[in-house]
Amino acid sequence: MAKKKTTKSMTSYRFRLYPTAEQAELIERTLDATCWFYNQLLTIQKQRYIEDPDVRVSRNDFTNLVSPYRQANPKLKKIDSTALDVVCENLVRAYDNFFGKRSKFPKFHKRKFTNSYTAAGRIKDGKSSIHFSQTGNRFQIRLPKLKFVTIKGSRLPSNPVKQATITHESTGHYYVSVQVERTKENQNVSLHPVSKRTDNAEIKLTGKSVGIDINIPHLDFSDDHAIVKLETLEKTSEAKHLLLWERRLAHRRALAKEKQAQLEHASRQKMGIDSDWHWWQSKRYQEAKQHVARLRATQAHRRDLFFQRLTTQLIQEYDVIVVEDLTVTKMLKAHRYAKHISEISPNRFITMLEYKAQWHAGKQVIRVDPKNTTQACHNCGFIMGTDGTRALTISDREWTCPKCHVHHNRDKNAAKNILQRGLATLN
Ligand SMILES: [Zn+2]
Repeated sequence: MAKKKTTKSMTSYRFRLYPTAEQAELIERTLDATCWFYNQLLTIQKQRYIEDPDVRVSRNDFTNLVSPYRQANPKLKKIDSTALDVVCENLVRAYDNFFGKRSKFPKFHKRKFTNSYTAAGRIKDGKSSIHFSQTGNRFQIRLPKLKFVTIKGSRLPSNPVKQATITHESTGHYYVSVQVERTKENQNVSLHPVSKRTDNAEIKLTGKSVGIDINIPHLDFSDDHAIVKLETLEKTSEAKHLLLWERRLAHRRALAKEKQAQLEHASRQKMGIDSDWHWWQSKRYQEAKQHVARLRATQAHRRDLFFQRLTTQLIQEYDVIVVEDLTVTKMLKAHRYAKHISEISPNRFITMLEYKAQWHAGKQVIRVDPKNTTQACHNCGFIMGTDGTRALTISDREWTCPKCHVHHNRDKNAAKNILQRGLATLN
């Protein structure tokens, strides 16, 4: 079990960011650079590990590399150096977890999946280099290198900001999550609508562990935590509207293409030249396209809000959360269930859990090998599909183990296997 540590209690707030085009470009360059830098350090460390597996790396070993790397690489020179320090910290943590047998050897990061970076605030005389400002109704946050970026907010945290994580969501929206120390002054203050329900609650150690089977469209838990049904996310009026407008979009696209073909034909016959009207110029098609884009963004936002709240609740409730290290195959399988639900990315859910766990000492998220989590009996370890038995299919919601005769709910059994595997890596 996790050791009890006394730490300063932290709390976090999340705001929508509105960077200018220039600031957005710098954010992208920072994402490129932090991802690249992480992989560089990992390459060096991998080599070191091969040469001498017992050498432990300290935080300083890494941070000492920041400055020479910045001098040698123009792309690192122009970006926030605190973001590179945080990259070092993350890698040290990854190594500590590996040496502490809590996780596998760190993996290379893929730029495609890197959508956030963290900047550290330098705190001096109770003031942080990352801070807020308000002019009338306009709220801004000062971030390293980016300077003042407009945010959407109503009230701002007054305590010094320790860290800020800048995220570029797949919807194209930007967000910043800031971490501040919890004090008497801010413990009952609710700030942003996104944060007020859960992010303001105190994070305590609970001694509880859980395994979660991510079965888009639902999440199953190894204990008696209620199943989280994601279908409800898709049953909103926007979702219905979206379906309707998507159908209209397809129909109008087809009509417009037909019209283009007719115009081309007529124009060639009359004048012997091509028509210059293109199907995508159709007003009705454009109208449908805009509706679809807007409804999709609303849906994405709703989904994001839901996962933000859910992940904070889970971090509050459990100290150790075990999930499957999901492979592409499993995600592809999820697509079969429902076209729209497939937009819920299990990896994003896991990443969200992971970064929130990092904010609080004693909380951790473990990824385990997903192999046979569904087919194995958690009671005796028998694997369905072996010894002449039939492997479970997606329609087998419940089953009885042929060896120990325990009756299982398929997904709960999987969640229990996931938990067992995760806890095994802790010993
Ligand atoms: Zn069994």
